[in-house]
Amino acid sequence: MAVTKKIGIPRTLYFYSFFPLWKTFFEELGMEVVFSPPTNKGILDLGVKDTVNDACIPVKVFHGHVAALRDKVDCIFIPRLISFKGSITLCPKFLGLPDMVKSSVENLPSLVVENLHLNRRYFALPRFFLRVGKRFTNNVWLIWRAYFKALHSWKIYKAQLLQGYYPAAKGTRDVVMVPGRKRNEGSLKLAVLAYPYVLYDPFMSINLLKSLEKMGVDTYIPDSMQPTQLKRAKRHLPLNLFWYYSSQVTWTSLYFLYEEKHKVDGIIHVTAFGCGPDAMVDKLIELEARKNKMPFITITIDEHTGEAGMSTRLEAFVDMLKKRKDGTVS
Ligand code: SF4
Repeated sequence: MAVTKKIGIPRTLYFYSFFPLWKTFFEELGMEVVFSPPTNKGILDLGVKDTVNDACIPVKVFHGHVAALRDKVDCIFIPRLISFKGSITLCPKFLGLPDMVKSSVENLPSLVVENLHLNRRYFALPRFFLRVGKRFTNNVWLIWRAYFKALHSWKIYKAQLLQGYYPAAKGTRDVVMVPGRKRNEGSLKLAVLAYPYVLYDPFMSINLLKSLEKMGVDTYIPDSMQPTQLKRAKRHLPLNLFWYYSSQVTWTSLYFLYEEKHKVDGIIHVTAFGCGPDAMVDKLIELEARKNKMPFITITIDEHTGEAGMSTRLEAFVDMLKKRKDGTVS
């Protein structure tokens, strides 16, 4: 059995795509997994203090999560996520994440950094886990068993996302899957486009999903799109974007603009301040929405975005669309 160690996992960025995979793997190795607490003002302030000024908000928040973990664990897991299958890669900030953290956050415990290059070679994912596992144990059978159990948890998680569930914080230590809003015939339907680390993080998104639910709005989000739907949407983009999360957002918008045009009444794009890819993606969606006469709003999240300001814009947009749907305004 592996030596029991406490390993910290920052609850942001790629966390929302992979946490069941990582958590199960380390627990099966006999380790204690500690997630950083849900994002709060203290974590944001820590991140802003430690990060270079021109970093995007999610990267600043990531630094804050690492700082929040440093005194609580023996090591912190920060994989360098480089590519997904095909030509899809991750934005450069993901590639430089471990180096940025090392040079900016003081008094760190050891970092567990391994490159994950899913389009490089066969069996990239098991090889990645073998390298990570060998840092803690020489028992290769234990590592393989942990890997397959982790893979199983991840598959269940991805299936839940496709069914419309999304991850929410359970206390300060865990995560629970909550059902997205049930589809109601007459209610307003909106495509809500954002990266998972913005959308599922109530502090970052200023509770956007819950606010829309309270307003009686049904939402469609990128993670709940079936792969076949995204494949159809891709055909409307002459050139693929390089970055994984930006592509998911763009394809989802194109799906509702071209493939199932009448399924939603409008599109909300939530962008993170300082995000390079978003500068392009937002304009692209805006132009496509305009061409298709689809109501569209951009909400930009920055360090100073307040709930009051965002609610006012959101309510105005939703009210306008409800009136349009009722035929009160054209
Ligand atoms: S995609 Fe944008 S928000 Fe995400 S890490 Fe890269 S620059 Fe930051």
